[in-house]
Amino acid sequence: MRINERVIQLNDKPVNEKARYVLYWMQMFKRVENNHALIWAIRKANELKLPLVVYEGLKYYYPWASDRLHTFILEGVEEKREHCDKLGIRYVFYLQENDNSPKQTVARLAKEAAFIVTDDYPCFIIPHHNEVMGKKAEIAVHAVDSCGVIPMSKFDKEEYAAYTIRPKIDKLLDRYLKPIEMEKVDVKKPNLDVDCPETEVTADNIADLVAGCDIDHTVKPSPYYHGGTKNARKRLKRFVEEILPDYDAARNKPEKDGSSRMSSWLHFGFISPLEIALAVKDAKAPQDAKDAYLEELIVRRELSFNMTRHNKNYDSLKALPDWVHETMREHADDEREHIYDLEELENAQTHDELWNAAQREMVATGEMHNYVRMLWGKNVIAWSPSYEIAFETLVHLNNKYCLDGRDPNSYAGILWCFGKHDRPWMERDVFGKIRIMKSGSTGKKFDSAKYIEWTKGL
Ligand SMILES: Cc1cc2nc3c(=O)[nH]c(=O)nc-3n(C[C@H](O)[C@H](O)[C@H](O)COP(=O)(O)OP(=O)(O)OC[C@H]3O[C@@H](n4cnc5c(N)ncnc54)[C@H](O)[C@@H]3O)c2cc1C
Repeated sequence: MRINERVIQLNDKPVNEKARYVLYWMQMFKRVENNHALIWAIRKANELKLPLVVYEGLKYYYPWASDRLHTFILEGVEEKREHCDKLGIRYVFYLQENDNSPKQTVARLAKEAAFIVTDDYPCFIIPHHNEVMGKKAEIAVHAVDSCGVIPMSKFDKEEYAAYTIRPKIDKLLDRYLKPIEMEKVDVKKPNLDVDCPETEVTADNIADLVAGCDIDHTVKPSPYYHGGTKNARKRLKRFVEEILPDYDAARNKPEKDGSSRMSSWLHFGFISPLEIALAVKDAKAPQDAKDAYLEELIVRRELSFNMTRHNKNYDSLKALPDWVHETMREHADDEREHIYDLEELENAQTHDELWNAAQREMVATGEMHNYVRMLWGKNVIAWSPSYEIAFETLVHLNNKYCLDGRDPNSYAGILWCFGKHDRPWMERDVFGKIRIMKSGSTGKKFDSAKYIEWTKGL
C-alpha cells in the first residue's frame, strides 16, 4: 500500500508499541545526508518517542561479491558511524564473512523493533529482500524511495524512451530540485545495547576483513575509486569546479578526465543525485554544460530506474520492444565475422585494440568510460554466437568488474546496446535494425591511440 509518493508499506502488520527502538535497514542508500529513507525512519522514531538503530550488513554470498565491491562498501563505514554517533543514532555494521558466521541479523534486530524502514530500490537483490521482509516481519515495514531526484512513483508505467519521460521530468523538476531538510533525532542513544553481532571497521583493517571473506578474491580493489561520502564529495567538487565547464565537449573523450565519474558512488548511495544536481545547478559553468549533465544524471538515469521498476524482465532480452525481437529473429543466423568466448573477452584478447583497451580499463579500475562502454557492448553483440549469449556475457562482465554495476543503469545501458530506448536504424548484418557502432569510426572521434596507451599502463 502506498503511504506517500516516496513511501510504500510492505505489509499490514502492526507497530510494536512495547519495543525498544525503530530499525532502519540501510541496503542501498549508504549515506546520512539527503536520504529520504533515513529521514522517514527518524520521523517514525520521534513519533514513537524511541531511539533509532541503523543497521547495515554486508554478506559474502550476493552475486559477484568480490574484494573490489566489499572494499568500496567498507570504505564508507567508519565515517557513517561517526556521523550517526553525532546525530544520536545507533549505527550497527556487520560483516558476514562465511557460512559459519551468524545469519538472520535483520530478523534478530527486528525482535526488539517497533517498526522497520528500509530502502526501496528497483533491481538486483533488493526487491526480493523487501518482499521476504514484508512477508516474514511481524511488525510494520515501510520501504522508502531515495533513488532519484523525482520519486519513481511519479511515473506510473514503463516509459518508452528518453523522449517520453523528458517532458514529464521537465514539468516536475522545479518542485524536486530543492534541498531537503534533515530531521533531528529526539531520543539520542548512539550506544544503545542491541542483540546483533557487529564488525569494527577502520581504514587500517579493511584489507584484512576483506581477505577473511568467502568472496571472489581475483577482482582486486580499485586503485582509483574509493568508497564513502567524503570521497564522493571530493570528486564532485573537482568535477564541478574544473571539469563541468567543458563537460559538453569533453565527456565523449575517453582519453581525458572529462566526465563526472560519479556513477560508482551513486550506485552505492554514498551521495544522492539531488546533491549532485544542486551542485551542478549552482555551479559557475555554461548553461549548455549544466543542461547536458542534468540530462544524463536525471533524464537518462531516472529512465533506467523507471524501466527496472516497471519491467519485470529488465534482466533479460524480453525487456526489448517488438521491433527488436522481429529484427533479431530475422538476423539470428547471420554469419559472425569473429566469435570470442567469455575467457577471451574477459582477458581482452580480441583483434580490436580499442575494445581490448575498454575491457582493460574496466578490469583494472572498476569503471569504463561512457563513450567506449557503448562500443564495448555493441561489439560483444557482433562477436557472440547469439544475442542471448551476448547479453549474458555483458551482464556478467559489467556486474563483476564495475563498481557501478548491478544498477538500473547497468541493465538499461546493456539493453540499450540491443535497441532499448532507441529507434530502428538502417538494416545491417547481425544487428538488423539495431544501431551499430564500429571501433574504426568511433575511434576517430577521439584520441583513441592515447586512450589505448593509457590502458596498457594500468
Ligand atoms: C553497455 C553499457 C553498460 C552500462 N553499465 C552501467 C552501469 O553498470 N552503471 C551505471 O551507472 N551506468 C552504466 N551505463 C551508463 C553510463 O555508461 C554510465 O552511467 C557512465 O559511464 C558513468 O560515467 P560518469 O559518472 O562519468 O557519467 P557522466 O557523463 O558524468 O554522467 C553523470 C551521471 O549520469 C548518469 N548517466 C550517464 N550516462 C548515462 C546513461 N547513458 N544512462 C543512464 N544514466 C547515465 C550516471 O549516473 C552518471 O554518473 C552503461 C552504459 C552502457 C552502454
